[in-house]
Amino acid sequence: MFSSSIPISSEGGDSSFQNNVPDPVTSGKELPTFKFALDRSEGRVMDGSFGKEATVVQLPISKGLAGVSMRLEPGVMRELHWHATAAEWAFVTEGRVRTSVIDPYGCAETNDFAPGDIWYFPRGHGHVIQALGDRPCHFILVFDNGYFSEFGTFSITDWLGHAPPELLAKNFGLPASMFANIPKEEVYFAKGKIPPEIAPAPLQGWKTPPLTHKYSLLSQKPFDVFKGGLEWRVDGSQFPISTTMTGVVLDMEPGALRELHWHPNAAEWQYLLGGEVRVTLFGSHGRWRQETLAEGDVAYIPQGFGHSIESISGERARILIVFNSGHYQTINLSQWIAGNSLDVLATNFAQDPSLFEKFPHREVFLTK
Ligand code: MN
Ligand code: MN
Repeated sequence: MFSSSIPISSEGGDSSFQNNVPDPVTSGKELPTFKFALDRSEGRVMDGSFGKEATVVQLPISKGLAGVSMRLEPGVMRELHWHATAAEWAFVTEGRVRTSVIDPYGCAETNDFAPGDIWYFPRGHGHVIQALGDRPCHFILVFDNGYFSEFGTFSITDWLGHAPPELLAKNFGLPASMFANIPKEEVYFAKGKIPPEIAPAPLQGWKTPPLTHKYSLLSQKPFDVFKGGLEWRVDGSQFPISTTMTGVVLDMEPGALRELHWHPNAAEWQYLLGGEVRVTLFGSHGRWRQETLAEGDVAYIPQGFGHSIESISGERARILIVFNSGHYQTINLSQWIAGNSLDVLATNFAQDPSLFEKFPHREVFLTK
């Protein structure tokens, strides 16, 4: 009569949630912290370039998503690498960036990015990231696995530097002596000249994939406009290659509120681009917790947990929000209430039905 099989969702969310097993990190008496000061952390630094990460090591609650704040000086590249444990979703905040990515069908794409642009690299596809022009660039990388570590990925110098030269010689049909001077340890950040403005063709010539890896998010019209702010949103329906992740940028006027809501199908990773916000998390069993985010701070909302975001400083807040599902879903409290009858609401709260006449009869989403 009872099925012994455990339903496992094919994408999104936290693995423990999908397995219907309580997560020890979020099932205690108190909710743990869900904030990490990413840009104030140390990370990996080379001159002015850096990579700072937020994974389950820095933020134990963040099992479904990890993130990296990366800055590259002019002429610096994040070397050729891949990671099959997580897809990579990125948002450019400053400067210009060039990426090249290879897919399993031999198609390669090179794209140039400016602030407000995003990229998506599927799990395991090899890529390289370069600063373009004579100014540094900065971008936020988000991964659909909290256990991902940027410092445990597969880098090309790490591999070739530790492969026997005879093996490489045979592989490429070249003398082993040609591999004598390649780096012996992982380079991670490689520094060279500023790349040409027009991207040079790959060795095989241009052979581009059917789906592009680039989407210009902030040059689109906002997805929605509210009293108190703007929302840009991109999921797999606008950006088809991005099958496992969705991104949102919220601009919030001082005092604006992204209303109480939850996401049925995904965990949420937040990075504050500007201003100051207060995030309130509701974790069932009377548990709730608030965190205040300043610019460069990260927060994480486990799949299905109730939450809200308020812009609390005198300036506009801008927040980057990334979900580990390619399908955006939200249920907002005002919408839920509006989907029930006065009779149900009156009984549930032991109030006179007339009270609920005054509630919004449609979704609020963002208000002030
Ligand atoms: Mn990467
Ligand atoms: Mn949310």
